[in-house]
Amino acid sequence: MSLPGGYMGKILRVNLTDQKLRDETLPDNVLRTWLGGRGLGVYLVLKEIDPKVDPLSPDNKLIFLTGPLTGTAAPESGRWCSVTKAPLTNTIHDSQSGGKWGPELKFAGYDAIIIEGASEEPVYLWIHDGKAELRDAKHLWGKDTHATTDMIIEEHGDSKIKVMCIGPAGENLVKIACLINDKGRAAGRGGHGAVMGSKKLKAIAVRGTMKPPIANESKFMESVRANIDKLKKHSVTGEALPKYGTAVLVNIINKHGILPTKNFQTGVHPTAEKYSGETIAEKILVKRVPCWGCIIACGRYTRLPKDSPYAGEGDGPEYETVWAFGAQTGVDDLDAITKANFLCNELGLDTISMGHVIGTLMELYEKGKIPEEKLRGLVPYWGNPAAIVELTWRTAYRSGIGDDLAEGAKRLAEKYGMPEVAIVVRGQELPAYDPRGVQGHGLGYATSNRGGCHLRAYMIAPEVLGVPQLVDRFDTKGKAELVKVFQDGFAVVDSLVLCKFNTFATWLEDWVGLVAGATGWDVTLDELNKIGERIYNAERVFNILAFGDGKEYDTLPARLLKEPMPEGPAKGYVVKLEEMLPEYYKIRGWKDGRPTRAKLEELGLKEFADKLEEAGLLPE
Ligand code: SF4
Repeated sequence: MSLPGGYMGKILRVNLTDQKLRDETLPDNVLRTWLGGRGLGVYLVLKEIDPKVDPLSPDNKLIFLTGPLTGTAAPESGRWCSVTKAPLTNTIHDSQSGGKWGPELKFAGYDAIIIEGASEEPVYLWIHDGKAELRDAKHLWGKDTHATTDMIIEEHGDSKIKVMCIGPAGENLVKIACLINDKGRAAGRGGHGAVMGSKKLKAIAVRGTMKPPIANESKFMESVRANIDKLKKHSVTGEALPKYGTAVLVNIINKHGILPTKNFQTGVHPTAEKYSGETIAEKILVKRVPCWGCIIACGRYTRLPKDSPYAGEGDGPEYETVWAFGAQTGVDDLDAITKANFLCNELGLDTISMGHVIGTLMELYEKGKIPEEKLRGLVPYWGNPAAIVELTWRTAYRSGIGDDLAEGAKRLAEKYGMPEVAIVVRGQELPAYDPRGVQGHGLGYATSNRGGCHLRAYMIAPEVLGVPQLVDRFDTKGKAELVKVFQDGFAVVDSLVLCKFNTFATWLEDWVGLVAGATGWDVTLDELNKIGERIYNAERVFNILAFGDGKEYDTLPARLLKEPMPEGPAKGYVVKLEEMLPEYYKIRGWKDGRPTRAKLEELGLKEFADKLEEAGLLPE
């Protein structure tokens, strides 16, 4: 059987317990069934990890993956993803990142890396031109992500090496710790950094000169040109994102009254303009930074003035970050927000969860739930710029109250006696859109397999931005069907592994030619759609086996279901989840949040239906 194009044809398995490394191959039919990235990772996790495993134990695995388009001429194909059982949520969990590390992994000869076991001493993995070895990392342990990257590059004397690593937060098993590559790109959510830290794996450095083969060059390049053309012509990908970055959303979302403010107590932040994409461009932007092979270049590199108390420079901030450290905490000081972002990059923290958790703490403090002695002189009042910077430090090192913040919003709120102020789904902090003013987005949050997330079904596109066309954001009719289309489609994007911003201008039908040209498969639109649906169902199967996922978990915090938005254009609305959920289950072929045998078998997942049946968890 000849190998499909697009892939390097080799994955690396690293057992850190016995320090053994070996190359493996995956059958063509597995690749065609799951594509790569998130899909392949979900398949491998389901096959290899006990769903009940402690995420921070040696029995959990951490899988890094590229896709069949990574490192090719396909636009925005410079990304990679990580899949594991996450410590923040106890769900199956994928996290995506950009930069240059993903393509370099392929150039070094590998499609994916499976990390299993745990090392006794800190190590790092060095992969170069088809070879891999573990190296001592005792001298790197304790270092931030920037120092780690610089030291590894210096050690090898090759500035072209790309490094993905954890910072002190991952080492300290902070449940909102992320993976940082290229110093400023993050696989942010879920606490993958803590999983890597639990394995004493400090970094993976990659360097290579190989190129992924393309099965049908002319067909592939024809599709590449057509995709680029659409991206350049679209107002979001051709104009707004390049000019102002993702923070272009600040003013738009605030004007719609859905910018979650002070821990989702309202949806309007009156001074949000101070940290908008437009203000960033005017005051601190140094240059745009594209990921590998990207024509949009939404990334920002910024510098804070020398006379600022937060002087410094680095990657960011993005929309979700300025929201998390801005509206969510009531802070509108752009320098402090940007500094907190720089710290998250250096210490290895997810900016969304970090800012969100600080907002949770501020509400607990406002309600008199935090003892003063826990704070050591810090006053976490709404809008305190110094607090967001200081609390980021304390979280990474689990210092004082930081030890509680390191556990995430759900555990923090429970510990201090107010679980209702944790604005989370499946334990993951909600991001920068209040769903009370975007009903479909609310359904997307509630049914997200990896916990509260805007990137499973970005319903903001049709409900606010009018992409592909505007739908009534307050209406619940038809939303279930749209959410399923987005969830399945995004599972395909994450498996190819393309940047989601492509989806503003292109969709599955535009990628058929890319996949067919790269791999040589006669892939169809229907096949891609089925792959997306298969992935979403497989993830749900893992969660059911892990903790009994289903209807009880497909919900939102009471604040969003019962407390009407108090002001602004979304005033008076709550999320009418009960109007959408039954229809969603019907369209999915699920019963009370669980896939039926008929649905699983239709998707080629009989073995997983059998597993559910054995566990007594298959719906009647
Ligand atoms: S659009 Fe932004 S996130 Fe996406 S690949 Fe380009 S620079 Fe990276």
